[in-house]
Amino acid sequence: MLHIALHFVVPLLAALAFQRPRWRSAWLILVATMVVDGDHLLATPIYDPERCSIGFHPLHTLPAIVVYAGLFLLPLMFGREPDRRALRPNARIVHLVGLGLLIHMALDGIDCLGM
Ligand SMILES: [Zn+2]
Repeated sequence: MLHIALHFVVPLLAALAFQRPRWRSAWLILVATMVVDGDHLLATPIYDPERCSIGFHPLHTLPAIVVYAGLFLLPLMFGREPDRRALRPNARIVHLVGLGLLIHMALDGIDCLGM
């Protein structure tokens, strides 16, 4: 239960810390990345509290996590407005999707440490 709450609270803290004054839309995007858990539908049983998601479910494997890191980093390098400060709107969304997925993998990974 705490684990699920953290999937809402940690993105909220990240949005408040890094995305003011647009923290609400940032939080929405970060929380929306929880759809990545759709890959649990491929497993039997769909949910097993004793199973570590990282490295088991296809969207929770290292190659996927490398892609998420790219989604997070590439907009920072190539998605800036001409004034070089703010991210372009689409780049901001991609960046936040990457951040949300990395936060998700980190939280799932921390959950695995106790197994
Ligand atoms: Zn997950």
